[in-house]
Amino acid sequence: MNDVLTSEKLQRNICRIQDQISETCAKVDRLPQSVTLVAVTKTVTAATMKLLADLGIKNVGENRVQDAQSKYNELCNISDFSWHMIGHLQTNKVKVTLPIFDMIHSVDSMKLAKKISECSTETTKILLQVNTSKEESKHGFDCEQLCNEITEISTFDNIVICGLMTMAPFTADMDVCRKCFRETRILAEKLRDKGYIQQDKLELSMGMSGDFPVAIEEGATLVRVGSAIFK
Ligand SMILES: *Cc1c(COP(=O)(O)O)cnc(C)c1O
Repeated sequence: MNDVLTSEKLQRNICRIQDQISETCAKVDRLPQSVTLVAVTKTVTAATMKLLADLGIKNVGENRVQDAQSKYNELCNISDFSWHMIGHLQTNKVKVTLPIFDMIHSVDSMKLAKKISECSTETTKILLQVNTSKEESKHGFDCEQLCNEITEISTFDNIVICGLMTMAPFTADMDVCRKCFRETRILAEKLRDKGYIQQDKLELSMGMSGDFPVAIEEGATLVRVGSAIFK
């Protein structure tokens, strides 16, 4: 947990990222408001997250339920963050997860979607995670598998499929990342046009510190940025 960061340093980093988001949007003729910065806070404490709130950050991403829970308990009365679950979620943790998070980005199986549906008392917003990098270590649906299973997932009560999420491989080769992001967007548009994904605002959660500009060029609406904020 890294807490030596000053508010000034955080502010500089966030400004730089926001500028990069705006510049990239201008380049591809998108509105900067069409991209939401999700600050991935998995490596920092609640105290640092409080600084983010003071700097105007509205969306935070966590990948472990237990960490998120304790930070949420500390912060829920003093900040109005939207919380995004971005890490692999086990079905036995769904019940404690749902009250904390506004959106689950990492729904990577039919079984998990079903469990979320069964445990949801209100509508839960989800994204389906696709494994476009084909790396064994990464979770997510295979694209073809998703096309087959989404018909059933879309019938589950109390969940709304807002879009797709993907992680590009860890590489400096932006052509490889772009290919993953483009594949995700094309698949999402296809599934939307078939009526499986919410029609009005198609969410694409893609792009991290190393590749978010490319993700925005390919249509990302939610970028999940951690280390570039906290370095
Ligand atoms: C950690 C993490 C991020 C942020 O990665 P950075 O490279 O630190 O920006 C984004 N998405 C997921 C799913 C993560 O686990």
